[in-house]
Parts: sequence; C-alpha cells; structure tokens
Amino acid sequence: MRVLSALTEIWRSRLFKLTISILLLTLSVIMFADFFKLRGDVDAGMRDARKAMSEALAVQLTVLAASSNEQAIRQTIDAFVSRSADVAAARLTTANGNALAASGELSSLTSDAESTQSQMIVPIFQNDRQWGEVRVAFTENQSLVKQIAHFGFIGVSCFVLYLLFLRKALNQIDPSQVVPGRVNNAFNLLSEGIVILDTKLQVMLANEAMGHIIGRPPGDLMGQHIDEWPWEFPDEAPAPWRIALDDGGTYASDEPLTLHTHDKQPRRLIVNCAVVGAGEDAKAKGLLVTFDDMTAIEKNNRDLQDALRLLKQSQVSIQEKNRELEALATQDPLTGVNNRRALLQRLANDFAKAMREDRPLSVIMVDIDHFKSINDTFGHVVGDDCIRVVANTLASQCREYDLVGRYGGEEFVVVLPDLTAQQAHEVAERMRLQIADAATDENLPLQEMTASLGVACTDSMPDDYMALIDHADQALYAAKQGGRNRSIVFDSRVTKLKPEAGATAEVESDRRSQKA
Ligand code: GH3
Ligand code: MG
Ligand code: MG
Repeated sequence: MRVLSALTEIWRSRLFKLTISILLLTLSVIMFADFFKLRGDVDAGMRDARKAMSEALAVQLTVLAASSNEQAIRQTIDAFVSRSADVAAARLTTANGNALAASGELSSLTSDAESTQSQMIVPIFQNDRQWGEVRVAFTENQSLVKQIAHFGFIGVSCFVLYLLFLRKALNQIDPSQVVPGRVNNAFNLLSEGIVILDTKLQVMLANEAMGHIIGRPPGDLMGQHIDEWPWEFPDEAPAPWRIALDDGGTYASDEPLTLHTHDKQPRRLIVNCAVVGAGEDAKAKGLLVTFDDMTAIEKNNRDLQDALRLLKQSQVSIQEKNRELEALATQDPLTGVNNRRALLQRLANDFAKAMREDRPLSVIMVDIDHFKSINDTFGHVVGDDCIRVVANTLASQCREYDLVGRYGGEEFVVVLPDLTAQQAHEVAERMRLQIADAATDENLPLQEMTASLGVACTDSMPDDYMALIDHADQALYAAKQGGRNRSIVFDSRVTKLKPEAGATAEVESDRRSQKA
C-alpha cells in the first residue's frame, strides 16, 4: 500500500511529468531525423556491406566453378553461411536454373529478380556469358533488435540524465527558495491554508495547511495556476483573488467557496485576499490568499440542525401522545363525553368563577328511567347503545361552553354556565323530549326510552359545587318520585309538581324569591 502510494506520488510529481515530457520530445526529434534521413542513410551502408560480402563469395565460387570442384564449392558456401551471423542462406545456381550448392535456411531465399536489402543476387560470368548466379539471404530481425536497442539506450539514458538535471534545475528556480526558512516555518504553524500568488496568479508559496486542504505536498503546488484547482464558484461569480487584484486592495468572500479535491470530500473554504506591494502608485507584486476550512464546522452545524429537527419531531409526537393521554384521562371510553373526574374538575372551576363574578351556573342531572329492565330485556350491548344515544342527545343540546359528563352508570351531569334555573329548566325539557325521540330514531330495538332530569342552579345557595350536584340529585329524585320522564328544578323549601305540565314539574328557586 505504501509502495503504491509512493509510486502514485512520484507519478503525479511535477519533476516526473517534466522529465517524461522532455524525453518524449527528444525521442520524437530523433525519429523525425531518421524519417527525413538526416542521420545519413543507415540502410544504404548496410546494403553496401552485404553486397561486398556477396560479391566476394561470388568471386570465390567463380574460381571453383571454373575448376569444376563441386565439393570445394559446397564447403565454401557452408563455411560462408555458418561464419556470418547476418546470413540466413546462400545458393549457387547455373544459368539454366540448376542449384549446384546451397546452405542455410533455404526458405528465406526468394525468386526475386532484383537484389534487395535482405537478399543479394550476384551474377557469375564465364567468357562474357552469364554462367550462373549466387543468391544470399540475410536475417531481418538483426536490424530490428539493433533499432530497439538504439532507442532503448537513448530513452533510458536520457530519462536518467534529464531527471537528475531537472531536479537540480527545479530546486534552483523554486520560488519558495527565496522565502527565508523562518517565514516558511511561521506559515506552516498557521492552521489556515495560505498561498502567495504572483500577479499571474501562479502559486509562489503554499504552506502545509494548504497542501493538506488540496491533498498534495505543498511543494507540488508551486507554479500551479490557482484557477487550475477545481473550484466551484457560486453563480459563475469572479474568483475572489481576481476581484482583489482588479481592485488593488483586500477582498473577503462572504460565502464559503467549494473546492473539489479528487481523494477527499469537497472542502468549503472562506477566502481572504490581500494584494501585496500595492501602494498609492506602486504596482501590485502579488497576492496573499488565506483559506479558512469550514468543512468540519459546516458538518457540525448540519448535524446540529438534524438533531434539532429530530428533537422537534419528537416534541410534536410527545405533544400528540400527551393529547391522547389527556383524552384518555378525561374521556369516558363508552360515550366519548367527559368522565366523572374531568366533569367534577370543570364544575369546580366553573362554580368558583360563577361565585367570583356573581353569575348564575346551573347543572342538570339526567338518569335513564327503568334502565335495569332495558338491560334485562335487550341485554347489556343494547343497554350500552342506549347510554351512548343519551350522551349524544345531551351533547347536541349544549352550547360550546356547556359540558356533558358521565357521572355514573346511566347518569349524566350537564354543566350550564350563565344559565338561570328557569333557562336551565328549558334546556332540560328540550333534552327530555329529544331523548324520548331518540329511542325510536336511533334504530334501537326499544319501544320507548325516557329519562328523568333534576335541575339545580347556584340561586339555591349551595355551599360548594358538590352541594350543587346534590341539589340536582334531589330534584332528580323528586322527578323519579313524581312518575319519571320529567324534569324538576330544585327548591329547598318545597318541591312540588306542576299539575298543568303533565309529565313535567317545576319549582321556583328560593334564591330567586329571596332576591325578589
Ligand atoms: P330508575 O328508573 O329508578 O332509574 O330505574 P333503573 O332501572 O334505571 O335503576 P338504576 O338507575 O339504579 O339502574 C342502574 C343500572 O344501570 C344498574 C346497572 O346494571 C346498569 N348499568 C350501569 N352501568 C352500565 C353500563 O355501563 N352499561 C349497561 N348496559 N348497564 C349499566
Ligand atoms: Mg341510576
Ligand atoms: Mg335509572
């Protein structure tokens, strides 16, 4: 892994790239020179040498042919082929095509009429007449190996030489060398990324923090153009360093700039630029640019916002749960109206308020008549339905700020703020009639269902809210006693039935008479 990263470092280093570029240039110059034959015709020299060799063989064979010494001819050709590494095969043929002697790889001999680089044909004359010919085939790969060795040698030796030379030369021209070591060290101590640019916006110096931000050694950044780095500017806005250079002053980016580095997540950087050497009439000499890395801070902010969002979500769900719990704690599960606890609490509040403000408050206590027999005749499920129907009927007759509560089994209490006994009695009568109607309307399997109602008002001077309930209970008792299916208002002196009201009874409040 280490070796791999070291190799990647070398591969990406400026020195390596420069060396390779110059080497390629050199090799292409040599190839061009060869192509235009500027190095002299290397092939022609070789061809001449091969021709001379072949002619020498032909002279020897001519002499031997004249003495018809066939064995000597064969030996000569064998010796010629085996001694010269460059020769693949040789053959002596008479003019009528008779091969007198041959040696080597005969397949490399062709029937070409003309001499070529790879095959020489030398005619043999006797008495001015062509007696025969000598054909010599040469190996091809020899010249290719030589070419490769030639270019290989140039490539490797130039690479090493250029590398050594450029390393020295780059060191000499490294702009950071002109910066004193202690200044460099001071820059390296800073946690902000710092670069010094020349007026062409090329990096003259970068500190270690900057190298860390880009993900390269600071030395590699030298000479690079700052615009080469993969910036992302908001809405194609000009780069901050260009603005600073144009204005000849300082410039700070409000928003962080994004820098995409290939092996790291995008960096978010706040940029500050200051022109170096710009005075009243002096020209700018360069630019000092600092980079504050906001990536970690922004990530923390995002995490914090996520946590806040989660907190808000859980707060909402807690509130919902609380509402559900509150409903469960205050609602009667069968009817959905207030349970006894919530009813009494609200009554206590309303009673205290009525006393404080010297305003009337009435309650109605409702009890279904002969409910036991409904249960016995139709069962508890129907009994429960009846309880629900009565609760709904009572609620339908209430104002927004009235309250219906289930007091006990089939007993309800209705709290009516600001209503006098008379007004409450009217409400009670409406409720009684509606309950009687509901029995037939609500698809209950009953012939009839009635309720008795007792009304009490604060006029009757109860000591507290429980006493008020007790008054209503007494009036309810009177209604039951009076024959049921009626409503009666509590009277502490006398509770008498109104004969003309039929099923309804009414009692004047003693408080009202006291007031009068
Ligand atoms: P009265 O006219 O005198 O009121 O006669 P009643 O039969 O209605 O007598 P009472 O009010 O004492 O009857 C209460 C009955 O209500 C007793 C109980 O069996 C029944 N009950 C109480 N709670 C429930 C309930 O939640 N569901 C059902 N189905 N019945 C209940
Ligand atoms: Mg009862
Ligand atoms: Mg009852």
